[in-house]
Amino acid sequence: MGVPGNTPPAELAATDLFAVDAYRTEFDATVEEVDREGSRIRLSRTAFYPVGGGQPWDLGSISTPAGTLAVTAVKRDRGPVWHTVEGELPDAGQEVHGEIDWDRRHRLMRTHTALHVLCGVIWADYSIPVTGGNMEPMKGRLDFPFPSMSADLGAAVERRINEEIEKAHEIVVDFLPRSVADADPAMIRTAANLIPQEIDPLRVIDIVGLDRQADGGTHVLSTAEVGGVRVVGTESKGKDNKRIRIEVVDPEGESTNE
Ligand SMILES: [Zn+2]
Repeated sequence: MGVPGNTPPAELAATDLFAVDAYRTEFDATVEEVDREGSRIRLSRTAFYPVGGGQPWDLGSISTPAGTLAVTAVKRDRGPVWHTVEGELPDAGQEVHGEIDWDRRHRLMRTHTALHVLCGVIWADYSIPVTGGNMEPMKGRLDFPFPSMSADLGAAVERRINEEIEKAHEIVVDFLPRSVADADPAMIRTAANLIPQEIDPLRVIDIVGLDRQADGGTHVLSTAEVGGVRVVGTESKGKDNKRIRIEVVDPEGESTNE
């Protein structure tokens, strides 16, 4: 157990709305900076998730006094979050209203959480840590240094993931002081010590009783919200590198992939 209930740094809570409330879909903000050449804007705060940690950026729109802009990319540039937009750029100082594409984001939150459940299951059952991964809405993959992997293993893992999803584990966003995080076995196992020491506290996603790791992404509040998972592929990517591909499905068992 860590030290639950650590509150987010005030600065982060004021600017990176996605980091403290993954369910926030709309926000008001002031335009801080406009990069006309790059067709991108920086805002006083944002609910748009910037690409990172295997999770794609959010899509959506930003309404300005001159009209509505489509958001086509969201990335950090040496710290701050920049929104690449299509349409007439606003001026610095103007008030805008942002709205994320919530259907897509929620699918990404379910997928991202499913990948943590996969991580937790592989660690609990085989003591093998994850080494890489990626996701798109309702599909994801993780790599593990398994010496070998059979189709039976895929089926066993799928069964275990769905078992854990059904347990409706609570998911908590925690902020751990570095001194605590660096001594925490779960953080050591997931190599959180490789994150620069200036980042203090560490944002930690805790699937209570299953998996904890330092993470900047957006996740659902309970594993039950994921729905269900299918293991759709197990591949060897070389010696001691095996890839597991999953698909997230709706609770009724109906895939929303398309
Ligand atoms: Zn995550």
